[in-house]
Amino acid sequence: MPTDQNHMRRCIDLAHEAKEEGDFPFGSLIADSGGNPVAEGRNREVTESDVTWHAEMEAVRNATRKLRCRSLEGMTLYASGEPCLMCAVAIRRAGISRVVVAARTANPIPVEPHPFTAEAFGDTPMPRVTYGILEREALEVQDRESSP
Ligand SMILES: [Zn+2]
Repeated sequence: MPTDQNHMRRCIDLAHEAKEEGDFPFGSLIADSGGNPVAEGRNREVTESDVTWHAEMEAVRNATRKLRCRSLEGMTLYASGEPCLMCAVAIRRAGISRVVVAARTANPIPVEPHPFTAEAFGDTPMPRVTYGILEREALEVQDRESSP
C-alpha cells in the first residue's frame, strides 16, 4: 500500500534525525483512518535525558494532545522499529487499531506470561500488526544488517 510506504519513509527520516541528534534511531507516525498524518514522534531519550521518550510515545502524546482526545481508535501507528513493551501498552491504551512496523527488534525482551494481551490491558481490541514495510531502510539507520 503506497500510503504505508510513504508514512514509513517519514518514520525513517525521523529515525535519521534522531540519530543525527545523538538519540536512538527510531521514528513514528500516526495516521487517521483516511491515511492522513495526525502526529509524529522520534526518539529523544538522550537529548531529553528521559528513558521513556520513545518515538511511539511522542507520536501518541502528540496525537492525543492535538486531537484533545484520549482515544486514537481507527488510527494506524507506523514505527521504524518494533515497539517496546512500554510503547505497546501506550498503543493499546490509546486504542490504536493498526500498527505497521518496518523492522522487528533484534533482541526482544522475553516476558512470561506475555502481558500484551486483551485480558491484561482492558477491553480495547488488539491492533492489527503489519511487519516489514521498508525494513531494509529501517535496519540501515539502526546499523543493523538483517532482521532476526
Ligand atoms: Zn518504546
